[in-house]
Amino acid sequence: MKTYLVTGAAGFIGANFIKYLLNRKYKNEDIKVIVLDALTYAGNLGTIKDDIDNKRCVFVKGDIRDRELADKLFAENEIDYLVNFAAESHVDRSIEDPQLFLSVNILGTQNLLDAARRAWVTGKDENGYPTWKAGKRYHQVSTDEVYGSLGAEGFFTETTPLCPHSPYSASKTSADMFVMAYRDTYHMPITITRCSNNYGPYHFPEKLIPLIINNILEGKQLPVYGEGLNVRDWLYVEDHCKAIDMVVREGREGEVYNVGGHNEMTNIDIVKLTIKTIHDMMADNKQLRNVLKKQQKDATGDIDISWINNDLITHVADRLGHDKRYAIDPTKIKNELGWYPETKFADGIVKTIQWNLENQQWIHEVTSGDYQKYYDNMYGNK
Ligand code: NAD
Repeated sequence: MKTYLVTGAAGFIGANFIKYLLNRKYKNEDIKVIVLDALTYAGNLGTIKDDIDNKRCVFVKGDIRDRELADKLFAENEIDYLVNFAAESHVDRSIEDPQLFLSVNILGTQNLLDAARRAWVTGKDENGYPTWKAGKRYHQVSTDEVYGSLGAEGFFTETTPLCPHSPYSASKTSADMFVMAYRDTYHMPITITRCSNNYGPYHFPEKLIPLIINNILEGKQLPVYGEGLNVRDWLYVEDHCKAIDMVVREGREGEVYNVGGHNEMTNIDIVKLTIKTIHDMMADNKQLRNVLKKQQKDATGDIDISWINNDLITHVADRLGHDKRYAIDPTKIKNELGWYPETKFADGIVKTIQWNLENQQWIHEVTSGDYQKYYDNMYGNK
């Protein structure tokens, strides 16, 4: 029996992670998942409502900065793995309100590290370092953005110096450094994964790929920062979840692992490819035809999607300090743990569009705030 405390699992990647654990990887095994999430604008209980059964999966609403609550969770449960996804995660929002990012991402991480330390330390060794209960692991979910920006050549490896540029990446870097400081100072059993951009189901529609899909389906313009030439490395979210689970269970204690898709694309190419994929999917996809039909003034005629073309792209003012290129070298995790990105981008984007078509209600509910109402009905307004 293994017990996971997973923070931020009402958000995009954390939700996919617990679904991966409960419904796929350890479907018939005795595991328990405790979700701790503050349900900010980015967290939606509706995303994981079918996973919460109060036996294998329990939900606790709370803030990772709350010391009392963190201690209580450790006192009431024999937690084996703490996987910290919880964060303020949107770069644009960090430019608006840096202090919130500092508070949640740095102080929140440090609070969790301390709670785990209080619960897991058993004594001291002959050199005065804490000794730890066996089999415990604190895992920090981090980002390639901590490495800063690359030129046209080269890749981030685990030894690339940390050089963040945005308030978001500065806060994630500081959190990583606290995790490494706890490893060095207290010999805490930690691991860190630094991953490239994720896409896939349950992605909040303020991020590039879900925004573009959504806007096309709603007949809106497609905003792209500047010339759209910034390069990102895209990874299907389930491949990321698999990597995290492998590192938590089998990764070497104290190590950092880079996780990436070897799938570099400029933002403008992502948008153009999404447009093309929607055209390719039209012929034999009834759901897509039905959704797009709503855009058509004359709903009786054949569906005309000629308006879905590159002219929908609208260039908007570039993000301040926008990093030029991120690209991950995942050799370490591949060689040590045998992980590799299983989903090719061409397939992942089709799956993501299809998921979007099948979950229009979810999109409506996260954007309209209806999941907050759902939470209030279930749990009262607390
Ligand atoms: P998200 O914004 O979708 O979800 C974040 C979750 O954290 C939400 O459910 C939110 O309610 C919760 N949360 C926020 N503040 C909290 C607090 N104070 N206490 C408790 N819960 C709180 O984020 P995401 O895209 O799923 O990213 C998850 C993690 O993965 C983050 O740490 C992020 O830095 C990292 N990451 C993301 C990507 C990506 O492409 N999205 C890539 C690499 C790493």
